[in-house]
Amino acid sequence: MKKLRFSRRIAALALAVLTACGSIFAAGCGKTEDSGYKYEQELNIIDDNYRTFYEIFVYSFCDSDGDGIGDLQGVISKLDYIAELGFTGIWFMPLMQSTTYHKYDTVDYYSIDEEYGTIDDFKELIAECDKRGIKVIVDIAINHTSSKHPWFLEMYDYVSGLKEGEEPDASVCPYVDYYNVEKGKYGTSTWYQIGNSDYGYEGSFWSEMPDLNLANEDLRRELEDVMKYWLELGAGGFRIDAAKEFYSGSKSKNVEVLSWLTDYCKSVKEDAYLVAEVWEGFSSYMAYYESGIDSVFNFALADSTGKIAKTLNASDAANSGHALAEAMVKVQDTMLSYNPDAIDAPFLNNHDLARAAGYFSANEARMKMASAINLMFSGNAFVYYGEEIGMSGSGKDENKRLPMYWSATDTSGMTRGPLDADKIEQKFDPADVQMEDETSIYSCMKRAIRLRNENPELTRGRVAVMDAIEDSDICAVSKTYEDSTIYVLMNVNETEEKQITVPKDIYSYEGIRGYYTTDGSEVKLSKDGTLTLPPYSIVILK
Ligand code: CA
Repeated sequence: MKKLRFSRRIAALALAVLTACGSIFAAGCGKTEDSGYKYEQELNIIDDNYRTFYEIFVYSFCDSDGDGIGDLQGVISKLDYIAELGFTGIWFMPLMQSTTYHKYDTVDYYSIDEEYGTIDDFKELIAECDKRGIKVIVDIAINHTSSKHPWFLEMYDYVSGLKEGEEPDASVCPYVDYYNVEKGKYGTSTWYQIGNSDYGYEGSFWSEMPDLNLANEDLRRELEDVMKYWLELGAGGFRIDAAKEFYSGSKSKNVEVLSWLTDYCKSVKEDAYLVAEVWEGFSSYMAYYESGIDSVFNFALADSTGKIAKTLNASDAANSGHALAEAMVKVQDTMLSYNPDAIDAPFLNNHDLARAAGYFSANEARMKMASAINLMFSGNAFVYYGEEIGMSGSGKDENKRLPMYWSATDTSGMTRGPLDADKIEQKFDPADVQMEDETSIYSCMKRAIRLRNENPELTRGRVAVMDAIEDSDICAVSKTYEDSTIYVLMNVNETEEKQITVPKDIYSYEGIRGYYTTDGSEVKLSKDGTLTLPPYSIVILK
């Protein structure tokens, strides 16, 4: 009896070992050659307007000449870093001559701010970006100028000097009509008196940022010349600042301005790409697609209260993985109902928002997954500099724009950052350390971008929810581009490994095309079609 029991135990053990080995060898993923799966696929980057953009605040990015202020030569020295991450586009926050550190108030639309360099530096930057397949879009603030802009100074002098009872005359001073100037309107939070005159001007953000009157045709011709200048210098398009304030409170007039900008830029450069900032709720900013503009930033996804953070921070049904899949379809359908050629512009973070390290309480896995979800959206995903290393920064604007944390030991290229920023300790390693670590935030983001650059369906595909996937922690969507369909499944559960079956009779796929995990573990697909998704992981089936 004893002997028999023993041998039964051996047999059971042997069976268990065989079963375990079987599942290992049957796994359709990993780096085993017999499965035919390779961890990295060939890159398949198409030279069109579907890209992955890196947002750079030059001031805080990289300093080339030791004055502590980032500059274009500094950016040029980091283009390999940006290309290595897989970015195919850069959005530059304003580069033009300005009186503020953030440079959103322009003094000269035909210049590079002297702190950043020269027009020749910009030309060199464009040439170096071209070599790396990176499209450059330039931030342009046309809702307002600086109060030091020559147009405003001339208008101000002229109106201040009017005799009592005299009306401003645009044939004498055309700049009167370039701004919103009205008799008796001043002394509010957005209207300011011009000298001691009876007239006031509008400054919807600040007294020193006077609003332009975009209804004026002469001004429009001037701004067309400005856009043409930058497009001819090699800019691939523009990020349009503050589009909801062109005519504060009038969506239809703002849409008309965006139509004009889009049509004009595309008449100069057919493949120009424009993305507008309309910082409003989902249905409000979506309606701006009516203008025909390529993209409007998808604010509903971003920030601590956006869909991505809610999916990871909340556990209710409205913020489940399944709800995220439905949101992807809703974004697409809403956007395309206004403009069939629209390109979504998802982002998690930008220069006006608190960085994710704060609202995710420095939960590294959650930060990685949030950035990865952003990168799984169709369209042009935008990533704010420093997001790839989990930088901190919240509170006043200056804190959201801290020096890029290149290294803790090598100070070359480090900037001093905005003068009014607080001293903020970074919670995660600097870039040079994270680049050497295969499971760092940096390496995970690089992996997620790689998936975009391998699979054109991921960024360009038409999205549909995979209804047969019933686990609500799984965001499961198909994406179809031209004749090819991929299936993207994301496990948004932080702690649970998921085993699910993706039925081949409903979804036609051969196997794993690529996967993403936040801890270096593997996604597995067994012969019987069981998919094993580690916590916070993504798989692409094709
Ligand atoms: Ca400098």
